[in-house]
Amino acid sequence: MFELKGKVAVVTGGNGGIGLGMAKGLAGAGARVVIAARNQDKSQAAVGEIARLGGEAIAVPIDVADEGSVEAAVRAVVDRLGRLDILVNNAGINIRKQPHEYTLAEWRSVIDTNLTSAFLCSRAAYPVMKAAGGGKIINIGSMMSIFGASFAAAYSASKGGIVQLTKALATAWARDNIQVNAVLPGWIDTELTQNARRQVQGLHESVLRRTPAGRWGGMDDMAGVAVFLAASASDFVTGTAIPVDGGFAIQG
Ligand code: NDP
Repeated sequence: MFELKGKVAVVTGGNGGIGLGMAKGLAGAGARVVIAARNQDKSQAAVGEIARLGGEAIAVPIDVADEGSVEAAVRAVVDRLGRLDILVNNAGINIRKQPHEYTLAEWRSVIDTNLTSAFLCSRAAYPVMKAAGGGKIINIGSMMSIFGASFAAAYSASKGGIVQLTKALATAWARDNIQVNAVLPGWIDTELTQNARRQVQGLHESVLRRTPAGRWGGMDDMAGVAVFLAASASDFVTGTAIPVDGGFAIQG
């Protein structure tokens, strides 16, 4: 049910943080993993880390906000590995500012990197998955898919959009045996949130207070849900959004 041998999994932003946590989980379950990101030094380090754990991975450069780059990366994956069964749309950024301080270019950069990217990558992967008889797409949302924050207008809009895009793609492609689901991570200790803690005073303590589990998540906390949503265990699960948050979203 959780076996991924023979499958190829592309993880955008897989060279660090949540993406690397998921990539390690998928490789551990037997998938050949493609680390798809911009910084090739970081990507090679991630490939090495997976190899040291006994997994198989390659790096393919991609800028998820660029249509041509996305198309070229998907072509490269199929040329090099022959298939593409699992796509994790994980790459993401935030620009932490009050909404009235945002420039249009900043707004567009967050929306393009976090939301339009998932559309572009999924659209490019679709014909490959359909021809193979099915596939799995995992979109990474956030607690900001549910809640808002004064410093995250574009980010919240992009992550709310991810949940709705997930439902739309899931309904469109269900008959092609492609399941599309979202994961909503709580507060996970990564480069992204290390920056957030520097910029937002009191964030560290408020996350600890608010999270019933009483701790920040680690990148390894993201591996199990990725394997579940990538494997046949979830073949009748589609269009849903699963929080992985130590209970953050259910705290009254
Ligand atoms: P990191 O900053 O650690 O990683 C972000 C990844 O995205 C990097 O691998 C980066 O690689 C890649 N990336 C950024 N822009 C692009 C681009 N244009 N093209 C290709 N790759 C890109 O962040 P996290 O691991 O924390 O976040 C991963 C995802 O999880 C994001 O979508 C984030 O919004 C979401 N998330 C994170 C939470 C947390 O608490 N950490 C909570 C909820 C959601 P490179 O720079 O090499 O391209």
